[in-house]
Amino acid sequence: MSESSIATFGPLVDTHAHLDDPRMARDLAGVLARAREHGVTQIVAIGTTAASSRDIVSLARDHQGIFAAIGIQPNHGAEAEPGDWERIVELADAPKVVAIGETGLDRYWDRTPFPLQQDLFDRHLTLAFERQLPVVIHCRQCEADIVAQLEQLGRPVSGILHSFTGNWDDAQAFLALGLHLSFAGMVTFRNESLDPLREVASRMPLDRLLIETDSPYLSPHPFRGKTNEPGRVAWTCARIAELRGMEAEELALQTTRNARRLFGLEETETL
Ligand SMILES: [Zn+2]
Repeated sequence: MSESSIATFGPLVDTHAHLDDPRMARDLAGVLARAREHGVTQIVAIGTTAASSRDIVSLARDHQGIFAAIGIQPNHGAEAEPGDWERIVELADAPKVVAIGETGLDRYWDRTPFPLQQDLFDRHLTLAFERQLPVVIHCRQCEADIVAQLEQLGRPVSGILHSFTGNWDDAQAFLALGLHLSFAGMVTFRNESLDPLREVASRMPLDRLLIETDSPYLSPHPFRGKTNEPGRVAWTCARIAELRGMEAEELALQTTRNARRLFGLEETETL
């Protein structure tokens, strides 16, 4: 077996994919066929702007097994135009919208003033709470800021810390707030600096663990640096299963159960 092939197991849910990105949208049929081949049965597609959220809602409408998360990603906050937030609020009522986001905070890129990021994050949290939908949270070098903003709510938060990259202490703080943690391809990278991330993946409670691709970004090993797509969530699943001393099949079943429960996905609606 070559390094880039893998046994098929599933069902798998990719909880975070930017399917409207041109790198995937131009060959969506191929992307979905390869996802099915690797056991992926459901995908949560993620909006990053008002326009992309609208596109994601259309994708979900037109494809079995694709569900929509809608929001304005923090790095796109500054470019949002008047009326864009109202469009997000309207889209929240569209069919197959299963989450609000991605939202959150980002100190790595300096594209949106931080107070504006915090204001947008707050709006997403309120909308998610009002519609009783989980929230998808982006966090880049902002663990403490996010914990502080969520603690101010004074209630547990239903949702996901997506593409989690923190350490054990960060994980404990997010889990205590009620969040799930979702792992993307970084957990498969060979860098020793990612050992603390692997520690979280191997020790955290199984019933809060999710997996994602964040495609087209963060391709898992051995595809690192290439355009990612939902089928490759299988490699991330296999690596985390190995870290936990489980069969990949077993981790697939449990993370799929977690995703379906959190997003309320209909088990019968598959790719
Ligand atoms: Zn994303």
